[in-house]
Formats: sequence, structure tokens, C-alpha cells
Amino acid sequence: MKKIRSVVVVGGGTAGWITAGRIAALQKKRLGKSQNATDKAVQVLLVESANKPPIGVGEGTWPTMRNTLRQLDIRESDFIKHCDATFKQGAKFSGWVTGKQDDYYYHPLVLPQDFSQVDIAPYWLWQKQQQQTESFSKAVCFQEYLCEQNQAPKNIRTPEYAGIANYAYHLNSEKFSRFLQQHCMEHLDVKHLVGDVTGVQSQPNGDIESLVISGQEAPLAGDLFIDCTGFSSILLGKHFNVPLTSCEDVLFADTALATRVNYDSSDAPIATHTNATAQNAGWIWDIGLQTRRGIGYVYSSKHSSEEAALAELLRYTGGQVNEADVRKIPINSGYRQTFWKNNCVAVGLSAGFIEPLEASALVLVELSASMIAEQFPATRELMDIVAKRFNDTFSYRWQRIVDFLKLHYVLTKRQDTAFWKDNQDMTSVPESLQELLQLWRYHSPRDYDFTSNNEVFPAASWQYVLFGMGFEADYSHTYNPDSYSSNMANQAMMKNKGMVDRCVAQLPKHRELIDKIHQYGLQSI
Ligand SMILES: Cc1cc2nc3c(=O)[nH]c(=O)nc-3n(C[C@H](O)[C@H](O)[C@H](O)COP(=O)(O)OP(=O)(O)OC[C@H]3O[C@@H](n4cnc5c(N)ncnc54)[C@H](O)[C@@H]3O)c2cc1C
Repeated sequence: MKKIRSVVVVGGGTAGWITAGRIAALQKKRLGKSQNATDKAVQVLLVESANKPPIGVGEGTWPTMRNTLRQLDIRESDFIKHCDATFKQGAKFSGWVTGKQDDYYYHPLVLPQDFSQVDIAPYWLWQKQQQQTESFSKAVCFQEYLCEQNQAPKNIRTPEYAGIANYAYHLNSEKFSRFLQQHCMEHLDVKHLVGDVTGVQSQPNGDIESLVISGQEAPLAGDLFIDCTGFSSILLGKHFNVPLTSCEDVLFADTALATRVNYDSSDAPIATHTNATAQNAGWIWDIGLQTRRGIGYVYSSKHSSEEAALAELLRYTGGQVNEADVRKIPINSGYRQTFWKNNCVAVGLSAGFIEPLEASALVLVELSASMIAEQFPATRELMDIVAKRFNDTFSYRWQRIVDFLKLHYVLTKRQDTAFWKDNQDMTSVPESLQELLQLWRYHSPRDYDFTSNNEVFPAASWQYVLFGMGFEADYSHTYNPDSYSSNMANQAMMKNKGMVDRCVAQLPKHRELIDKIHQYGLQSI
């Protein structure tokens, strides 16, 4: 029974540091500080190249990041101050349905009012069919009002990581990886080595025995190797030759043009949601940090030339950036056929990447790191069992994310460009999503529609996008507007109106809160 005593993480982007930190932090919590604990502890070492900087994009997160930071014993105020971070309360999708001026919907992070007790959707749909009514997200959730008025999800007296409204973060990705590095090295005893991995030495069973590192005489041995080398995927992709399952026939975006824009003044409002604005061949993200906005156009090169895409991006920024400030990033849309092979597991971009709509990349890093830490195999023999479970879990999660992202496209009514027309072609829609859409013509999305407890997006998220995109459904055969459930739904909608009044009156402006946190910090828990 060979014990797993040393972990080598290759890559010092957010994936590498989150994974190293999660493993080290959980070990520390479980073992404590005694000499006996030191003997039992697994050594975590992270090696990164000085010549290949982390990708430096990836600014939108999920509410899960609050728990990840807490698990790493990081103070929220420190994180906000050092990573230029702001609060994210959802995403606003503009121009995705008709492309007209008034076309937008929200995917907020707060669940519909009383979601665990009543499904408001059939009642809302019935009201909509009777008369003009407000949008789904406004009728069932107060968060859109906060976003529209740039109001924060909490105030300076709310303890760290607690919220009056649910929230995630927008952050500066470069600062975040450096911040994590410092924390992991100073507080979690993660060792750090700078050098390029230039070769792999294998054991007879195919396991990695050690890595050849530039500038190091002796190869670096380990029991478990975690490939966080970004798009290079030098261990899982290059050494083990695990191919990508391509998603390019479903999600067409294959190129990103990324840039940054300064605020007009130091007191300019900071948006508290990601703006995702549809364009001719894709969409533009717009993310407000404390000191600047991160903006980028994700588009399909089969549907637009680079010149045309660049022109659209520059037009969006209102002439505030020029061509030299724009960085092109090719996207090879897909995920690995297997993520854990022998004694090597890939996390982050090396495991796969699809367009950053709904910020699903970092949450997959968090989920992967958490599963590796929680299910850490005690011996080499157990590793194959853990690996199988990991592979099943994450193949499923990737498929669900692909379906959810495609939902944002397939329901469009836009006919103005080939990109939007091609997205409505049912041959580009996975069967699993087609099935769900069929179901939802007769009932609104519910957690029972999903067969696994490894769902990434809850039924509420599917509802927000489905009804935000104007999905046409008729629930009248199973629904009576005079019923007990309708009464409950009506009460929930009234409660939501009360929440709107209370939150809008009480919560500070987003910038005001961020500035105060920089000055005073939040109350620690
Ligand atoms: C355009 C775009 C927008 C995105 N937006 C979002 C978003 O809003 N939300 C979100 O969740 N995610 C987003 N992502 C994804 C997000 O950026 C990544 O998931 C995240 O940054 C993690 O990256 P990584 O650590 O896997 O890779 P990287 O940051 O690329 O790090 C790779 C590391 O590997 C090291 N390395 C490489 N080769 C070697 C070698 N031979 N030897 C030693 N070290 C090596 C490098 O030095 C580096 O440290 C976006 C991605 C793109 C492309």
C-alpha cells in the first residue's frame, strides 16, 4: 500500500494556487499542529514557469468563491483590498433575444422569492398571458433593482462573507493569483519552485515518477501530479495525450479580444453585475473592478473577421482604447475526455475551456480542488477509485454547463446575422438540452428535472434564462389560477415587492461600500 505523501502542482495561475491551497488547508485543519501531524502531513509543492505568465483574464466568479476563500482562511476585506475586487450580483444579458434597444434580462444570484416552498413561474406565466406584466426576474426577485441602481449586496456592518443579497465577486485575475501565492506560502506551508517543466519520467505502470525542471539538477519526484498549466496542458494533454471533447459545433465562440478601460473619475459608479451584450457574432463582457473595467469580445471566427470584431469592440468602448490595447486569445472550445489519468489530474484551463459566459471556469476549478482535497486518496491503490469518481463527476458537470450556455443562444429570435441564425439550428443543440426544452413546454424547470446531485446550475438559474429569453410555454393543463399554489405564488410576489422597497432603501451604493472596505474593512466573522 503506497501512501500518497507528496503532491506536485504544476502551474501558478488561479487554478494552481486554489488547488494547492485547498489541499494544504484541509490537511492543516484535519491534522492540527503537533509533531505527529507534521509526520502525517502531505507535502504540497507548486512549480511554475517564469517565462509563461498566467493567462491574466477571468474576472467573474460565483458565490462559491466566498466559501473557497473562507476554507483557505482568507479574510474577505484583505481579498477585496488586494485583488481590486468588487461585488457581483448576477449578469445582465442585453440584445440576446431581439437585438433591439429595450431587449435585456437578468440572471440574478438570489433565488426566486420562497423558491423552496412555491414555484412562482406558472403563476407569472399565466399573468403574462392575461396582461402585460413585469419581467420574470423583476417579478420574483429583488436583486435586479439593486443592480440597476448600482447598490451593494450588503453594508459595512454586515460580517465578512455574509450578504443581505447573495453575491459573488469580480476580481483582477493577476492580482488574485499573486495574493493566493503569498497566502498559501505564508500560512499554508505550500512550497514554491520557479522553473519550466521540460520533461516527464515515467514508472513502468505509466504513472509519472518525476518531472525534469529547467535549472534543477535532480528531477522533481511526487506521488500525485496536478496539471494546472493552462492551455499548454503539458501533463494530461501533451504527456498523456488525452484529447479534448470538442464543443465547437454547439458553442461557436472560438476567439476572445480582451481589453481594459479606465473610469472617467475615481468616484464613477461600479456596476454590480456582469454586462454581457450581444454583438453580430458573439457577445461582449464588461466587468467593473474598483480601479478599471475589464472588457472583451468573445466571437466566432467562422462568423466574423478579426477586423470586424475589433471594430465592434472599439465601438463598444466608445473610442477609449485603441488596437494596441487589445489582446487576442484563441479558444479551443472543449474539455478533456478524461481529467484524471494514472497519478495525474488536470484542473483549470488544462482540463478544458468553453466561452466564459456565466463564468463557469473558476467554479469548476473550485469544485475540482474541493473534490481532490476532500477525497484525497490515502494510497496509490485508492487513487484509481477516486479518479474514476472524479472523471464521472466532471464529465457530467461539463455537459451540463455546455447545455446551460447553449440555452442562452438557442432561444434567440434574432435573424440579423448568420451567427444568431446558426445558433437556432436544432442540429447544434445537444439532445440532453432538446429533451429539457420539451419538458419545459409543459412544466417550469425544477430540481427533479436533473438526475444527478452534481448539478452546477440550480433549477432557478434555468428559469431565469428560460423566461428571460421569452420561452413560449403553456402550463394551463396542470395549473389553476385560483388554486392554493397560485395564492402562495401571489403572496411570494408581494413579499418580493416588500424586499425591493426595503433593500433599495437600506443598501449603500456599490462604490461607496468598496471604498469603505478599503478604508475600514468589514467585521470579521
Ligand atoms: C477570454 C477569457 C475570459 C475568461 N473569463 C472568465 C471569467 O469571467 N470567469 C471565470 O471563471 N473564468 C474565466 N476564464 C477562465 C480563467 O481565466 C481560468 O480558468 C483561470 O484563470 C485559471 O487559469 P489556469 O490557472 O488554469 O491557467 P493559467 O492562468 O494560464 O496558468 C498556467 C500556469 O502554468 C504555468 N506553466 C505553463 N507551462 C509550464 C511549464 N512547462 N512548466 C511550468 N509551469 C508552466 C504558467 O507559468 C502558469 O503559471 C476566462 C478565460 C478566458 C480565456
